[in-house]
Amino acid sequence: MQLPDSLLYIDGKLRPAQGGKTYDNIGPWTGEVIGQAADASAADVDEAIAAARRAFDDTDWSTNRELRLKLVKQYRDLLFANRDRLVQIARLEAGSAIGAAFRAQIDGALNGADGVLDCFPKVKWEEDLGVRNEMGFDTKRTVLREPVGVIGAITPWNVPLYVNVGKVIPALLAGCTVILKPAPDTPAMGAIMGELALEAGLPPGVLNVITSSDPAMAGEMLTKDPRVDSISFTGSTGVGKKIMQNGADTLKRVFLELGGKSAFIVLDDAANFPMTVMGSMVVFHAGQGCAYPTRLLVPKSRYEEAVKALEMAYAGFASKWGHFDEPTCIMGPLISKRQLERVKGYVDIGKAEGARLLAGGNVRTDKGKGFFIEPTCFVDVRNDMRIAQEEIFGPVLVVIPYENDDDAVRIANDSIYGLGGAIFGSEERATKIAKRIRAGALSVNGGVSITGDLPFGGYKQSGMGREWGLEGIEEFLEVKAIGTRVMG
Ligand code: NAD
Repeated sequence: MQLPDSLLYIDGKLRPAQGGKTYDNIGPWTGEVIGQAADASAADVDEAIAAARRAFDDTDWSTNRELRLKLVKQYRDLLFANRDRLVQIARLEAGSAIGAAFRAQIDGALNGADGVLDCFPKVKWEEDLGVRNEMGFDTKRTVLREPVGVIGAITPWNVPLYVNVGKVIPALLAGCTVILKPAPDTPAMGAIMGELALEAGLPPGVLNVITSSDPAMAGEMLTKDPRVDSISFTGSTGVGKKIMQNGADTLKRVFLELGGKSAFIVLDDAANFPMTVMGSMVVFHAGQGCAYPTRLLVPKSRYEEAVKALEMAYAGFASKWGHFDEPTCIMGPLISKRQLERVKGYVDIGKAEGARLLAGGNVRTDKGKGFFIEPTCFVDVRNDMRIAQEEIFGPVLVVIPYENDDDAVRIANDSIYGLGGAIFGSEERATKIAKRIRAGALSVNGGVSITGDLPFGGYKQSGMGREWGLEGIEEFLEVKAIGTRVMG
């Protein structure tokens, strides 16, 4: 199966890269070429930045809220109308199993757009703070919210539509103009954002999309260019740090959504303890999710019971993954050969560190030339091991025993990351623990803490700022205070 060629979208035109350069889009299920993507040059990136700057400075996009709302709604409708194409792209290009197209992958992204639109009326564009007597006279005070300007939106490959939508929709609603730079592995999910923007009638330059085989070139240009006001980045913590460094010269505003190593805490009074433990398997989208709770913390008093439950769960799942056409399948391949090698490398590290491999760990070449590795579980893990501290970004669960609630909180927080987490147990006790975890999105007893109308983001080295929700729109707004002297 093939995807149509991915084009650049610059200044209102869909077009190939200058010189017609393209690169191969490799499909994770087969390891084969599934399409061609435009390979932007530095000149293409420069043109996209100039177009976004012009659209921000010289048109009424930044001030005409009604127009923006109308056009963004049209854009949203087109995204919904193209759901089947989006699912197809996510399957072929991001390696999503059909059963994983709901939640974050496609439906989560589309519903997320609605969540952000629901928050739009809550923005306080102009706030009257009343009159205050200061320095002996009265001043009438107003606080305004205004768009930040030109945004460089840099996105990863794991849930590409979700992250593209999470940046583009709120930035456009805020009145910013955008250059979207998707990951090299998922160009088609970027290109369709451009195609639908054209169809929705967004004015030229308001959204631009540039795809490139070079992971760093376009992103570094955006980060260093003084014409770009802010970078909204989702990706690894390492690249996030580089973006802060590269943005320092122009004091770029940076918004960062980075990696995670979240905890899944099961308390000894969790309802249906074995089933809850089984639910911690890291299999959805082959574990390639930033907020995925990949460290399972179980009470020492019920540790053996938990290990038995996991043994059963993994044995039962052994034949249920890696099926392209099976609607209930939620786990496919990893995105790339590079990612496969990285995850396999962590399996070897786990063994060398002395953790016990309970299930999986093998690369499965019998499933074809795609990038398949088995659902994997390590038990008897200590939190200071590398497999417990570093983000693996694959289907690998590590299981760590704890003594009591304080110990569970200590272990959960003993991480450079702080993105998500899940706690299962009696509600009051679990909620108390959720409040003590230093992370941005916590689920209690399976509640959904990541949706389009809720703020999402990380503590510590999982990032800064918030995406989605009202806070996600405000991330793209500056705040201005005006004081007018009351005369007479
Ligand atoms: P990555 O950091 O390698 O790449 C992310 C994006 O940055 C890509 O578009 C890439 O081309 C670009 N990039 C690479 N080098 C750059 C540079 N020097 N300057 C500017 N841009 C540059 O991440 P990835 O491998 O695509 O995605 C996986 C990572 O993303 C994981 O660490 C995961 O946790 C993280 N992630 C985080 C979230 C979140 O919301 N916190 C969501 C999804 C993924």
